Amino acid sequence: MKPIAIAADLGIRGVRMKISRFSEQGQSELDYNFQICMLASGSRGNAVYVSGGSTSILIDAGLSGIEIERRLNSKGLYPEDLDAILVSHEHTDHIQGVGVLSRRFNLPIYMSSKTEKASVSQLGTVRVIKNFECGSSFMIKDLFIHPFSISHDAKDPSGFTVNQNGTKIGIATDLGIATSMVKEHLKGCSLLILEANHDEDMLINGPYPWPIKQRIKSRTGHLSNEASKNLLKELQHDRLKYVILAHLSQTNNTPQKALSEVSRAITRCNAQLDVATQDECGALLRLK
Ligand SMILES: [Zn+2]
Ligand SMILES: [Zn+2]
Repeated sequence: MKPIAIAADLGIRGVRMKISRFSEQGQSELDYNFQICMLASGSRGNAVYVSGGSTSILIDAGLSGIEIERRLNSKGLYPEDLDAILVSHEHTDHIQGVGVLSRRFNLPIYMSSKTEKASVSQLGTVRVIKNFECGSSFMIKDLFIHPFSISHDAKDPSGFTVNQNGTKIGIATDLGIATSMVKEHLKGCSLLILEANHDEDMLINGPYPWPIKQRIKSRTGHLSNEASKNLLKELQHDRLKYVILAHLSQTNNTPQKALSEVSRAITRCNAQLDVATQDECGALLRLK
């Protein structure tokens, strides 16, 4: 594994050095290929921190810039150490803080050109936007990114895999249906972030107006607990370490229902299953 350095806060804003940091267990962070933290997940804002050590990115930034900075800081992480923001689609819950963080910390934004066109008014003036195309891989410094199309009611929505040193993680939230292409891309991941938006009975019997219920259930809406379980049944393999259920509805789902339904998929591996929440960060997960 190639040497990496982790930035540590030296206490002086704007003056930072790259040094390696050691965890409480005495293990150097050099021992890990990835650190991942779900900063927020749900219809009021989504952001995932992904670090390969020498390269750190946000996947979506759908809270205010201040709140994302606060949540990073709560985990000993700093926006000054980020290298880029990668954007899945233009919905506000994925993009709200992108423009302000990009301006404040001079971060390039990676998004498709169609997503960029649909985001102009929300982003404001930003210095660097790099366009990707779904289906075409690219590097953000040391991270190998592969964006792939997902079925959702946005202009050009994408899921991502991120690969470093042969370790792969996958993220697919905001999708109405897991197509065979989605399944193909998410194969072989050590960590999966999968949507488990709603319990179907809660949605049908819940308070939403019928057109919104139809939109959520549609092929371009959101994945139910049951659909997430069926997807995980196909994706599990013995090197899968973590599965994080994401984008849970606060009206049409509960963490207990999501966990209980999706856990039934895990029969051929020992993956740890967890849910990401809206109001607080998840744990900082480390992956070899
Ligand atoms: Zn969303
Ligand atoms: Zn969306």
